[in-house]
Amino acid sequence: MSQYDYLVVGAGLFGAVFAHEAALKGKKVKVIEKRDHIAGNIYTREEEGIQVHQYGAHIFHTSDKELWDYVNQFAEFNRYTNTPIANYKGEIYNLPFNMNTFNKLWGVVTPAEAQAKIDEQRSVLGGKTPENLEEQAISLVGTDIYEKLIKDYTEKQWGKACTELPAFIIRRLPVRLTYDNNYFNDTYQGIPIGGYTQIVEKMLAHDNIDVEVNVDFFANKEQYLADYPKIVFTGMIDEFFDYELGELEYRSLHFETETLDMENYQGNAVVNYTDSETPYTRIIEHKHFEFGTQPKTIITKEHSKTWAKGDEPYYPVNNDRNNHLYKAYKDLAAKQENVIFGGRLGHYRYYDMHQVIAAALQCVRGELKD
Ligand code: FAD
Ligand code: UDP
Repeated sequence: MSQYDYLVVGAGLFGAVFAHEAALKGKKVKVIEKRDHIAGNIYTREEEGIQVHQYGAHIFHTSDKELWDYVNQFAEFNRYTNTPIANYKGEIYNLPFNMNTFNKLWGVVTPAEAQAKIDEQRSVLGGKTPENLEEQAISLVGTDIYEKLIKDYTEKQWGKACTELPAFIIRRLPVRLTYDNNYFNDTYQGIPIGGYTQIVEKMLAHDNIDVEVNVDFFANKEQYLADYPKIVFTGMIDEFFDYELGELEYRSLHFETETLDMENYQGNAVVNYTDSETPYTRIIEHKHFEFGTQPKTIITKEHSKTWAKGDEPYYPVNNDRNNHLYKAYKDLAAKQENVIFGGRLGHYRYYDMHQVIAAALQCVRGELKD
């Protein structure tokens, strides 16, 4: 038997919070990670004096004071507020959908004028309760915004027609009748000064925790199950069961990163390309997350693609078919007594960082309550 109380599979946020809290309670934890670095998808690295978000733009936001205090133990946050813009065939619109967007699109000036325009356009639904993303989007913002800013972006992002996608995906975005370009409604928001990797590094820096990277759980699954009293698994739940009930669907991403010999490429951290012709969904200019003034800049074009075995699974595709299949895997997982499943892949859920931390804290507190 192993000298450890827990084996944590995956050094992302879920695994790191679990390991950290267990270590503070005197438990001995081994963490294995198949990538060559810790921090999972929140990993950032420094290049040209700029923190590069290697797996896509990450902005921390929450309204939960306890969570905000929790994460501030591990880093100081700057005052960054996410205000992405949309580029539709060269036309620029503010996001999320707010009075600035409505003014640019329709020339309306007051909230009442904007509301009247939305009401007129949503009447195509005939009062029907929205059952998919297309209907939900039209019901929230009308047909013009749906056509220019949502339809093609969403179909590029998810590889499916908006009529086949769940409504909740678009409800993530605020719709406001105020001139407020803040992408989130949350009370607290920012980017950790010095990047995200340090957060996970500090969580894992404890005498009771040993970390090994470049180690894949599946290379020795049966041995780990035999050796460790308890395993926390944050990889893909269907892969854990060797896809025996079928494959869950994921979206993968391809990142194209370039260093440019100029100070300022696009004037904003995030620009979404909402037409169907542009092959990528967005361009991130990393320095703008931290108000950088370096002489060079680094940009990343984010392409979305269908996941196939061997690709990184970034997004669960939470439609009815996949949620149903996930439930069946969850039932199998419940019978796997010594394994706890967690995180975006273990729970097959579109979690943001604050939600993953909350889920990990709840899990570890439940686990170690006595
Ligand atoms: P992960 O970070 O995926 O960690 C799981 C780890 O397990 C990985 O490192 C993986 O390599 C490892 N692993 C898997 N299988 C094995 C195995 N067999 N053996 C060993 N190791 C294994 N959240 C926000 O709050 N704000 C944002 O702005 C934001 N933007 C995002 C943008 C993109 C493009 C993406 C993809 C996500 C974004 N998120 C954002 C969500 C955020 O990334 C997640 O909430 C968080 O990283 C999930 O942590 P996790 O530990 O569940 O998963
Ligand atoms: N979305 C859109 N147009 C945009 C930005 C977002 O239609 O310019 C839709 C799209 O369906 C996306 C969803 O809103 O999947 C949620 O957007 P968010 O920015 O939260 O996605 P994430 O950062 O998780 O990729």
